[in-house]
Formats: sequence, C-alpha cells, structure tokens
Amino acid sequence: MAIGTVVIDPGHGGTGSIGGSDGNHAVSASGVKEKDLTLILANLVRSALQSAAASGGHTLNIVMTRTTDVNLSLADRARVARTNSADRFLSIHLNGFNKVTRGVETYVRRAQDNVNLNDDKRFARRIQNAVFDVVEGFDTGSNDRGVKGEKFGVLNDVQLGNTSGGNCRACLLEVEFLDVPAVDVLLNTGPNASAVRNGIARAIANAIIEDLVNP
Ligand SMILES: [Zn+2]
Repeated sequence: MAIGTVVIDPGHGGTGSIGGSDGNHAVSASGVKEKDLTLILANLVRSALQSAAASGGHTLNIVMTRTTDVNLSLADRARVARTNSADRFLSIHLNGFNKVTRGVETYVRRAQDNVNLNDDKRFARRIQNAVFDVVEGFDTGSNDRGVKGEKFGVLNDVQLGNTSGGNCRACLLEVEFLDVPAVDVLLNTGPNASAVRNGIARAIANAIIEDLVNP
C-alpha cells in the first residue's frame, strides 16, 4: 500500500550562506562538520526507510533535498516538500553551543503561524522519542530536551504548501550537540559510532512510518 511521500532535508551544505541556510554550523572536536554528518545520517535514514517500508509491505516515495555537498536556501528546501506534495518533512541538524550543553531536541513551527500545530507536534514527539531512546541507550549523558516551538524558515507552512491545501507534517531534529567531546566519541570516533548512527536512522525511519500509518 502506498503510504506517502517523505522529504528528508540534510541541514546546511556547500560553502557560504544562502537564503538563511549557513554552509555549516557545528563542528566536532575531531573535525566532523555538521553539514557532512547531516548528509550521512539522511542517507542512512533513506536506506532505513526503504528497508522498513519494504518489510512492512508499504510503498513509500522518498525525496532528499540534497544528495551532495551543496547548500540550498531554506525556502528551496521547503519547496521540495511542496512540489512533491510531501506528507512528512524532516530536517536533520546537529547542535553546537558551548561544548558542554547536551541533549536531543526537535522543533516545530511556532504556534501563531502553524496551520497544523498539533499534527506537527505529534510527528515531532515520535521523532524526538525515537532518537533520544537510541542515544540514551548508548550514552546516559544525553538529555531529552523535548519538542520546542521556533519560527525556523525551513518549517514555514507557506513554503511547505500547507496553506495552499497541502498536508505536510514537518519538524526539525537536532540530534545532539556535535561540539561536545563526548558526543564526538558517541557519533564519530568511538567504537559504537556506526551502531549509533544506524540505530538513530532506523529509529527515525520507524517513527516516520508509524506516523504515516497511525496519524
Ligand atoms: Zn544546523
């Protein structure tokens, strides 16, 4: 059964800022850039979605906003969802702050300009819980920072097509704080890094399919 279209948006890319999207933001102690890790994770999510859909007997259309090291404006990223009549839009990022603050958090568009806030929150909560469970399972130093509201341009309902009859649920995931040394070990340099990345991707894929099948 066809269960919908999913757009995966790896944050940042390329060099320089374009339309509100910085080329890169966070960098790990070992030198891993957020823009590269978001693309790696997005590719893993795409593979996990294909596997999970196939094993569940579902047909799923998966679209990436970028598959190479290029930047797109925030409006152009959202526009990919609109032009593909997406049912779900997930933007993947990693945080960076003061090299100490840690945790997983997921954002939805702030209430006053969100035409489907409750549905976005439900989708975001599923993503948040799924990712935090995996991260916490490998590293109890993480924190569940929950679902938050922001006015991120990439979650703009006009660009996503929601205000012209579209029905796209959207959220932005901040996997962890990449600038924290323990997170670098967890995601990039430690013995479990590959398992953590794959576990996060599978958890995201399962959460997306669950949200499509049981909205
Ligand atoms: Zn980012």
